Amino acid sequence: MLRSRLYWKLFLAVFGLVASASAITAALGYRWRDQPDMGGQLTVLVIGLLLVAAAITYLIVRSLVVPLLTLRRAAQAITDGDYEHRVPVRSSDELGSLARSLNQVSQDLGQQLTELRNSDERQAAVLGGMVEGVVAVDDNHCVLFANAAAGKLFGFLPPSVVGRRLLEVIRDHTLDAAVAEVLNTRQSQAIELEWNVDTPRILAVQVTPLPSAVDIGAVIVLHDNSELRRLETIRQEFIANVSHELKTPLSSIMAYTETLQRGALDDPEHREQFLNRIAEQGERLNNLIQDMLSLARIETAQQQFEIVTVELADVVRRCIDDYSRQAAAKSVALQPVDGFPSAKVRADEEGLRVICNNLIDNAVKYTPDGGRVDVEWRSINGHVRIEVADTGPGIPRSEVARVFERFYRVDKARSRELGSTGLGLSIVKHLVQSFGGTAGVESQLGQGSRFWVELPAA
Ligand code: ADP
Repeated sequence: MLRSRLYWKLFLAVFGLVASASAITAALGYRWRDQPDMGGQLTVLVIGLLLVAAAITYLIVRSLVVPLLTLRRAAQAITDGDYEHRVPVRSSDELGSLARSLNQVSQDLGQQLTELRNSDERQAAVLGGMVEGVVAVDDNHCVLFANAAAGKLFGFLPPSVVGRRLLEVIRDHTLDAAVAEVLNTRQSQAIELEWNVDTPRILAVQVTPLPSAVDIGAVIVLHDNSELRRLETIRQEFIANVSHELKTPLSSIMAYTETLQRGALDDPEHREQFLNRIAEQGERLNNLIQDMLSLARIETAQQQFEIVTVELADVVRRCIDDYSRQAAAKSVALQPVDGFPSAKVRADEEGLRVICNNLIDNAVKYTPDGGRVDVEWRSINGHVRIEVADTGPGIPRSEVARVFERFYRVDKARSRELGSTGLGLSIVKHLVQSFGGTAGVESQLGQGSRFWVELPAA
């Protein structure tokens, strides 16, 4: 205690005052008793002593007050959130050690705050970057937080929904009920939500209670399962379609075989006919399986295409040759409109042949006797556009967009009769896309169709 400088400073201050007071008292006493005529000199002495005492006291007090004021300013800076503020440490007394402690507190607080901010920013970045929507609510179902993905799913701006009730933000009673249940039981819940506002969506929702140490509330995590469901539906439809397509020719083969077994084998007139039907249906089955395999290979990118520069005129010439007999049999004029002008495209040669074959095959197949099929091609904006136009039945406007789908047929009975599989145009579309091109059709019901394909020019 005695070694304490502050103690000494205070001691000196008091001592100064006491000493001054004693000096004044002594001087006055001296004047009254022995030297009544020295009044003037004594007055000067007393004033001088008082001034010296005041100066000493002032210096001592200043040395105490100034550091205290500095410390008060530093404390205020910390209160205001300025953790960079430092107090100069000029002494090793209590004030100096207080200044050091204050500096340490300020530094520690600053560090903790930076860590908290970093961790907050990291959390915000993680939540903001999540594909899943995340919404946190308190025990009154008021939104505490919502991330960007949740905003995108339900069409709101995340900061604008904080503080609003969940049911106002996401108008779904099932979700609100699930949150109530989780808040009551403190057990997680998984539900599925069908959201039919704007784009219909199927959402897998997980509601989890917030750890009670943090807050009372719940976190809702929403995962958009729409695409998964769509693919599932396509897969189921595909399986149903394939089974149906395979069942028809198989049933025919089984029925003819059974008839033959039951005695038709000995009937030379019908025997031939039934065997022909079995062969026909067998071929249909084979075509169907071949088409499905090619489509599967193209779709799963298993087929390795050799994209090279191909002379389109050569490929079309061969296709026209292949189908000329079939066209002639129906008196259908199959011809190139402007001869065989040279046009080079970037494609796989075999794939390009399949594209042309499918388009010409359909045109000849669906065009009635005496009709016409025109094939032409020309360069447009770095692409070569190939068109196959026919004078066939045309396609109803409502179905035009669907003819490139797998197994889609406009006139189902007629297409089957013609031995078609419903996969030809689907194969065309996938091949064209694999070569970086596009395909489409323009059609007038009763007047004909114009199928077109655009491929990158070489
Ligand atoms: P398909 O093997 O049945 O011909 P596609 O995928 O090639 O299968 O064609 C799908 C459907 O599009 C056909 O069933 C038919 O209804 C219609 N279609 C295709 N080409 C033509 C055409 N040139 N004229 C009229 N309809 C056509």
